[in-house]
Amino acid sequence: MIKLRSSSAPAKALCWQWQSQPFDTKQTSTGTDRHEALEAYFKGDEKPLEALELEDRDGVEWAIDYVKAHSSESWPMEWEKAGKLKVQSDEIDEPITVSGRWDLANGPEMFDLKWRMPTAGKSYDAQCAMYAAMNMARGQQGPITFHVLYGFEKRAEVKQFSKATCDGIINELIESYKKNEATPNPYCGWCGAAAECPAMNKLALKVADSFDREVELFDPNQILEPPHLAKALKFARALKPWMEAIERHAKEAVDSGIELEGFKSQQRTTPRKVKDLAAAFAASGLTNEEFVNCCTLKLTELVKAFAEANGLKQAEAKRQINERLAGVFVEGTKYNSLVKS
Ligand code: SF4
Repeated sequence: MIKLRSSSAPAKALCWQWQSQPFDTKQTSTGTDRHEALEAYFKGDEKPLEALELEDRDGVEWAIDYVKAHSSESWPMEWEKAGKLKVQSDEIDEPITVSGRWDLANGPEMFDLKWRMPTAGKSYDAQCAMYAAMNMARGQQGPITFHVLYGFEKRAEVKQFSKATCDGIINELIESYKKNEATPNPYCGWCGAAAECPAMNKLALKVADSFDREVELFDPNQILEPPHLAKALKFARALKPWMEAIERHAKEAVDSGIELEGFKSQQRTTPRKVKDLAAAFAASGLTNEEFVNCCTLKLTELVKAFAEANGLKQAEAKRQINERLAGVFVEGTKYNSLVKS
């Protein structure tokens, strides 16, 4: 039997050889904390929410308000319910069993808390389609309205998944399974197989082959010909996910106790922070002006505080802050970046 986790579906639809990371990352555990806080809040326990870092808490509070506004008491609130889906097709010799645990199903409305919006080429559609199909398979009438909540951006993406939409995505997964070829895609950076991936390794070797002596030197400053430099840049960007995957994979391996020859784990500390600015000001003995000159202002926090203090929506608070601070803003420094032409 072929097994597939719903959360892997977006990547597996593009490359069946994609594998999830073999270690739990900090990102995974923070994500779990946010999910737990959201669910616990609706079950009457606010402690997990209070325990979150300020930024996470802010995003989860937004999600709480969103769910309150878009859920209905006519349907049960089904949190973290495990679902299964058996995909059968004449095109595959054995069924694919999809399993997963959605965040919240409220009848035909479903919700999933993410954090940041996906970058170009990525999408949660395949994952949502699996949950929607599971919900319909157990008798819920479709179409399912899926609300993907991006806590960091405080934005919701709402899509409808009919049976036909889900079947279309299931077909993409079947095609990917049949092809079963390492196919570089935007999820390579999160692929647990990236370090050994034949497609990525082929690409890395191609880099060496393509530039003869110039790349043999492995010194970017020696690649002088503009066409070679452009080619090198293209390859460098294509290989970036592979390099990042190797860095991350190696770091997590070492963190979990595995020894890598020639490398050791070294603890570093992030810069100290002041948790209470008012107390720091009082203790510093500086004048108001002297102290303020040592501080930087977080504009997003200012807008938030202004909105709360004046009972305004964020957009209006931002507009008023922009107006009030117009005389003291310094425009951001312009810089050039290389984008594809
Ligand atoms: S790194 Fe390789 S196996 Fe992993 S998703 Fe990319 S192409 Fe597929």
